[in-house]
Amino acid sequence: MASDNDSMINITQALAEAESLQQISDSPQLDVQLLLEQVLEKPGSYLYTWPERKLTEQQQAAFMDMLRRRQAGEPVAHILGYRDFWTLSLAVNATTLIPRPDTERLVELALERVADGPYHVADLGTGTGAIALSLASERPRWMLYATDRLEDAVRLAEQNRQRLNIPNVRLQVGSWCEPLQTLSAEPLDMIVSNPPYIDPADPHLKQGDVRFEPHSALVADHSGMADIELIALQAVDYLKKGGWLLLEHGYDQGERVRDTLIEHSYLEVETFVDLGGQDRVTQGRRPF
Ligand code: GLN
Repeated sequence: MASDNDSMINITQALAEAESLQQISDSPQLDVQLLLEQVLEKPGSYLYTWPERKLTEQQQAAFMDMLRRRQAGEPVAHILGYRDFWTLSLAVNATTLIPRPDTERLVELALERVADGPYHVADLGTGTGAIALSLASERPRWMLYATDRLEDAVRLAEQNRQRLNIPNVRLQVGSWCEPLQTLSAEPLDMIVSNPPYIDPADPHLKQGDVRFEPHSALVADHSGMADIELIALQAVDYLKKGGWLLLEHGYDQGERVRDTLIEHSYLEVETFVDLGGQDRVTQGRRPF
């Protein structure tokens, strides 16, 4: 009599299911690998050390269920419930943006500008808390103030903060700089933000992962510039003289963001590229 095990697929066969994601994903191999790692509760290296190992019935059912969700276009981060960002593993859900590798560039640029010390830094529209928590983990003597208009996002970021045991981040619900009035008595050394910046008419909003992310985290009026303009305007009142503003933006918005910052009298206005060589982050400094 055949044992139950005979009808189960092995790891190599499971990985071959990447084929079924060719149409919907830019990274089918990686997607399947991440799903399988979670189902087996093993690191990626295990998959290549034990290619013949069979899945149990339960593992196979769980894997097939996840695969079907991915085939329907759901982002891997939503299926797994987490996304790695910087050195952290962050819980994610449909209430906010899935952290992107591009945003690690913003983290890098922020760290290059201010050393560890008793400094005060704000992250506006924190979402999962990705930027604030990464900065706080690298700069234990900074105090981070992280705001988000959505209560659900602040709850998620606070859960991430507690699970990762990062003490130097304070979160509060509210729009951009508004909560800073109560959060921080100190003028800030730096303000960072990855606000929504996609043009509402951008056809990319109908493709891929962004279909499953909230518009509030992606889309802004005025060709994607509305929130960037609002932050540039508000931030001056909260920054120290010489304090930094660092904003993530779209690959084609560098010039408009620089113009906006110059209009608001920021100094040392400059745009930096992301890992793909595209304009991605613009800085300014409050005049001395
Ligand atoms: N970079 C993201 C994308 O193009 C958008 C993030 C954002 O709007 N802040 O999908």
